[in-house]
Amino acid sequence: MGAYLRAQSENGKIILRIEDLDTPRCKSENTAMILEDLEVLGFRFSGDVVYQSRNLVHYQKILDRLYEEGLTYFCSCTRHDLKERACQCFLNRQTPKDHASVRFLPKLSLDESFDDLLYGKIYVDKISEHIVLKRSDNIFAYNFACVIDDIDEGVTEIVRGSDLIELTPIQNLLYKSLNCKIPHYVHLPLIEMTEGKKYSKQNHAQAALSLGTPQQVLLKALKLLGQNTLSLNEKMKPEEILFYAQRGFDLKAIPKKSVIYNDLT
Ligand SMILES: [Zn+2]
Repeated sequence: MGAYLRAQSENGKIILRIEDLDTPRCKSENTAMILEDLEVLGFRFSGDVVYQSRNLVHYQKILDRLYEEGLTYFCSCTRHDLKERACQCFLNRQTPKDHASVRFLPKLSLDESFDDLLYGKIYVDKISEHIVLKRSDNIFAYNFACVIDDIDEGVTEIVRGSDLIELTPIQNLLYKSLNCKIPHYVHLPLIEMTEGKKYSKQNHAQAALSLGTPQQVLLKALKLLGQNTLSLNEKMKPEEILFYAQRGFDLKAIPKKSVIYNDLT
């Protein structure tokens, strides 16, 4: 909702991307349900839905290029190894091999801070630079794939949950290493089920539409985003609610602290 209203209110386009890289976990019936729910809630996106699972050849091409430029290395450390000691695999860059993860070996210096349009300047400490770009089970890392997609799709502003703040400096370093312009960021507070536990499917949260009518769900989300809902009501169509909500959208009204979910009533 936050990303949608922000894009609409700035006359931007918003892309719907299904981040289904973890194929064993991402079932197509779940995707169909997500698309259907978004439709019922009145969300309309620009262009076709983008599926990361259909872009694997392209990710590999970029990864190969980074390897040729000396910007990645293969790591054979097991989880157990990494508990005992830090990975040293970059000391002798191995030739490509199976059952190894591919890690980022940046040459440029990392900027630990970035500007966020809601939070202002954000500083992230304790960043591990050698992030995994492709896992040893051959699954591309989300951190890598979404940067590539954002570059390809010409994304100029990223609006996402504040749980991804810590990743931002390293993603920015990826942009720089690929000679691409760093986008603007808006990180949004999270909705939490209880303190520190994000309201999400992985924490067994209920689907939004099981909590009330589409209108009730939209109005609740707007309130959680700190938006003024006085001129809106449950009799409006979902599309109408979104239309008026984007007209009055106020980025600065969004609370900076995560909110604990409570009932719709
Ligand atoms: Zn290693």
